[in-house]
Amino acid sequence: MLPAVMPTYNRLDLSFSHGKGAYLYATDGRRYLDFAAGIAVNALGHCHPHLVKALQEQAAKLWHTSNLYRVPEQEKLAQRLVDSTFADTVFFGNSGAEAMECAIKIARKYHSSKGNPEKARIIAVEGAFHGRTLTTLAAAGNKKYLDGFGPVAGGFDHVPFGNMNELRNAITPQTGAIIVEPVQGEGGVRPASLDYLRQLRAVADEYDLLLVFDEVQCGVGRTGKLFAHEWAGVAPDIMGVAKGIGGGFPMGACLASEKAAAGMTAGTHGSTFGGNQLAMAVGNAVMDVVNDPAFLAQVDKTGRELWTKLEALVARHRGVFETVRGAGLMLGLKCVVPNGDVQTALRAEGLLTVGASENVVRLLPPLTIGTVEVDEAVTMMENAAQKLVS
Ligand SMILES: *Cc1c(COP(=O)(O)O)cnc(C)c1O
Repeated sequence: MLPAVMPTYNRLDLSFSHGKGAYLYATDGRRYLDFAAGIAVNALGHCHPHLVKALQEQAAKLWHTSNLYRVPEQEKLAQRLVDSTFADTVFFGNSGAEAMECAIKIARKYHSSKGNPEKARIIAVEGAFHGRTLTTLAAAGNKKYLDGFGPVAGGFDHVPFGNMNELRNAITPQTGAIIVEPVQGEGGVRPASLDYLRQLRAVADEYDLLLVFDEVQCGVGRTGKLFAHEWAGVAPDIMGVAKGIGGGFPMGACLASEKAAAGMTAGTHGSTFGGNQLAMAVGNAVMDVVNDPAFLAQVDKTGRELWTKLEALVARHRGVFETVRGAGLMLGLKCVVPNGDVQTALRAEGLLTVGASENVVRLLPPLTIGTVEVDEAVTMMENAAQKLVS
């Protein structure tokens, strides 16, 4: 018989009663160091006091009024995102997939508003992940996720990640945009080279294509900059953001330049829940903490420290790990043995991680961790690696 919860996930038989900072407490009493952070969602760890306070205060005032009215908390967060990024305007939704759906709509509307509706095709890259709606699945083009769900939404062309020649060859008069994750997450924690990101900007300018970055996973401080593309010194025209932006409250945002979003007039897009008071209170509280140069510098420093220690770990355990990859606190261990076995061994030591493609174990700790948590995690990895080979 089908369980009450639709079995679309391969869940672990593990549940938690509470969390604090980088630690999760299981219902069986065990404590775990959480290097999964709800898949990069709990950017400030569990029950961060500033977030709890913001949520509780807003909960006692007003939760939701809909976008039929002005929402001051939404205007405030939008303005803060505009002030801190390339963007001139922000649409709020509830998830990463919705942020990317909005990005795709904006890109197509841009060209149709200019009298070029045929420029609706979008170039995306292999190994991408943009969400589970029918269009974002088509955008990523992952056969495994599309299989069985009927006609694939049209309008996407796929080229290998990181290959400019093939991307240039794929451009036709119908091409209107390019969509890339600056650091691929599900695809195996694969960072784009900074040169690749710069060349994407150049080719987009050359052909009047809109450049869309999917920073749903790599954004909001994860790489040590507010947004990962800042490392390359180039900006997209449109950007999808979610995961960390709500610190655990479901929330997404699509940021765009004035040029890109010029066609997004009243009635062109909407969301009942998007940008409600409760979400915006938490989003503003996350920004209070993350959008601070000292905080971001600390993420960068901790990321480099973890990287160095992981490199040493990999060098000591060549039979288990192959390489370290990623950026900031979005790191991956490419494994020699099956990544699922490594995750199980790590969990037995008390460390939670996330799997990814290419046999990678993803490390996505809260951005608030320091040397203590880094050392604790590396010790657990060391112990797990020893047990895996013995
Ligand atoms: C998680 C993710 C999404 C989808 O986000 P949902 O909130 O699950 O819809 C989209 N793009 C990237 C890069 C992601 O990591």
